[in-house]
Amino acid sequence: MTMIDPKAILKKVTPTPQVETGLTNDEKKVKITALFTEIMNTLGLDLTDDSLRETPHRVAKMYVDEIFYGLEVEKFPKITIVENKFDYDHAVIEVNIVTNSHCEHHFVPIIGKTHIAYIPKNKVLGLSKLNRIVDYFAKRPQIQERLTLQIHQALVNILETDDVAVVTDAMHACVKTRGIKDVTSMTRTSKLSGAFKQDTCHRAEFLNTIPRAQEVIY
Ligand SMILES: [Zn+2]
Repeated sequence: MTMIDPKAILKKVTPTPQVETGLTNDEKKVKITALFTEIMNTLGLDLTDDSLRETPHRVAKMYVDEIFYGLEVEKFPKITIVENKFDYDHAVIEVNIVTNSHCEHHFVPIIGKTHIAYIPKNKVLGLSKLNRIVDYFAKRPQIQERLTLQIHQALVNILETDDVAVVTDAMHACVKTRGIKDVTSMTRTSKLSGAFKQDTCHRAEFLNTIPRAQEVIY
């Protein structure tokens, strides 16, 4: 069993545009609370109302602790890799992994499911670690394309194989509730490499196993 070094993995993953703030999480919450108070005041909301009073603090806590913790290296899931002693050499496929994120253009939810396959070489991964990796990258302001790539690249580097496939199906609140207001459309993004790109059998097995886009239940 070997422990994965998050920094080493994240270096090989398409970066989310980030700058070092030097702030602790508590300092971030204090600052966001003040800034969100300003936004609500500007909108003309009465912050002395007992329903609204705590909203700036609630939003600050939500941003830092609940929906954007994937911006922190320290929050990368603890992953131990197991030797593939049993020489399992077929696809491991996990479908319908909850993928709840936020769009970086509007800061409103992206609600989706991710489907993953890999063919183990020397390493295998506990199945729940796939869910944790998806969740980690989802907990950043995202665009769906980058989210799919980050999950794929992390898995390629952790599992030390190119035989990895990732598909994300999601609906975007910013498309449903504003702008075009399309309530029925959804978006699929994919990254297939190694055997899943080159070998029609592996590709077909994966694509036939995952739900069809319109069957994904949110
Ligand atoms: Zn958006």
